Amino acid sequence: MLTKIKIIWLTIKSLMDGDIFVNYERLASLNKAHLWHPFTQMKDYNNAEPLIIERGEGIKLYDVHGRAYYDGFSSVWLNVHGHNVPELNQAITDQLGRVAHSTLLGMANVPAIELAEKLVGIAPQGLTKVFYSDSGATGVEIAIKMAFQYWHNKGARGKTTFITMNQAYHGDTIGAVSVGAIPLYHDVFRPMLFPSHIIPYPYAYRHEGGAAGAKEATLTALRNLLETRADQIAALIVEPIVQGAGGIIVMPPGCLHDMAALCRKYDVLLIADEVATGFGRTGAMFACDLEDVSPDLMVIGKGLTGGYLPVAATLATDEVYDAFYADYEEQKTFFHGHSFTGNPLGCAVALASLKLFEERNMVEGVRAKASFVEHKLAALKDRPHVGEIRQKGLMIGIELVRNKSSREPYDWAERIGVRTSLRARELGMLTRPLGNVIVFIPPLASNEAELEEMTDILSESILNVTEGGSAT
Ligand SMILES: *Cc1c(COP(=O)(O)O)cnc(C)c1O
Repeated sequence: MLTKIKIIWLTIKSLMDGDIFVNYERLASLNKAHLWHPFTQMKDYNNAEPLIIERGEGIKLYDVHGRAYYDGFSSVWLNVHGHNVPELNQAITDQLGRVAHSTLLGMANVPAIELAEKLVGIAPQGLTKVFYSDSGATGVEIAIKMAFQYWHNKGARGKTTFITMNQAYHGDTIGAVSVGAIPLYHDVFRPMLFPSHIIPYPYAYRHEGGAAGAKEATLTALRNLLETRADQIAALIVEPIVQGAGGIIVMPPGCLHDMAALCRKYDVLLIADEVATGFGRTGAMFACDLEDVSPDLMVIGKGLTGGYLPVAATLATDEVYDAFYADYEEQKTFFHGHSFTGNPLGCAVALASLKLFEERNMVEGVRAKASFVEHKLAALKDRPHVGEIRQKGLMIGIELVRNKSSREPYDWAERIGVRTSLRARELGMLTRPLGNVIVFIPPLASNEAELEEMTDILSESILNVTEGGSAT
């Protein structure tokens, strides 16, 4: 009641004098009163002054006070060309003048068709069919259900389970969580999930055998599982080359390639979850391209629309598609869809984003920028609390440790990652940690001057928090 009166009073006051600080107070109160934020302990969150973003320009976001912040994590790994990009805005405006939404149930629309053609053109070999949805998680649900029903339609009724990898993250719907393996996020839901086989993701830094040992352990676990259980397994789902939410963990070279070969050999489908790694992020259009891997199903989201609108897609091969292609009476139809499947506004902006990829040579650009960043961060390697710097393209994770030689992690309760990210925010850059791993995933459009400033902030905040000192 008191909050309500306060909000009404602040609304009247801000309308009367237009004071930006009163406006902030009003929004902050409303935020506290009505918003429940994702992946957030609201008790913590409500104790601090909330950051409230008002607009974006280039690779910076501006809060309601007009303060600028570098978007150092691409608004959770999705922004590509920056914010408020004229070409992308125009594509949405143009489409808006035609139609904002119409369904793909029983009819098609212009941008959904044109985007499907473009996606097939850039996707790994063999992926020829596009099934749209609206988030990475729904794209994963679709891939899982397609893989399951694929075997059902082919009469292999025993192939009903999935292989996933330790610390995997594939989204937050129940199917996606069932193939997830991050205990902190997923354990509470275990009783309502279907069980999956879990093999280790090759985490070289924390494997006694290093990169070679970690890779061998993964391949051995996969081989053993496939040798004994392939007739019960529908598919393996993998975050190719880089495991994102698990801590920006980079696979040793050749691992993905060998995993794909094993799946092929034992007749188990391969689902590549490229939601985080797709669209140039790793220095190739898709991470699978780095090792010439052609999955049977591929999920894309996040950067698909340049990070503008919620569109995702699941791409399939003819082989998968054909298992559903039958006379209606055979009941092989894929009964799945979402209200906003193939949304024209989203597809139009995705098309405009892909045009910019071509015109601006975005993927080659990422490789050059990646080596610039690698060079800039090299000095951090010797610092006493920097355990490992992991990088693929413009996807960077810095694992902080209490003891460098024993690799002893910081206790989770110290919240070293959260504190470092808060310090970065004070210094003018936004990011969000993964436990003790500091994440740096800048928009692909960031130029060298911007990357220089952002890496300086990153270093400064790490040193401030772990050593109490300054970078300079
Ligand atoms: C973000 C992410 C998802 C989930 O995507 P949403 O759009 O948040 O549902 C799935 N897989 C990976 C690898 C991701 O990084």
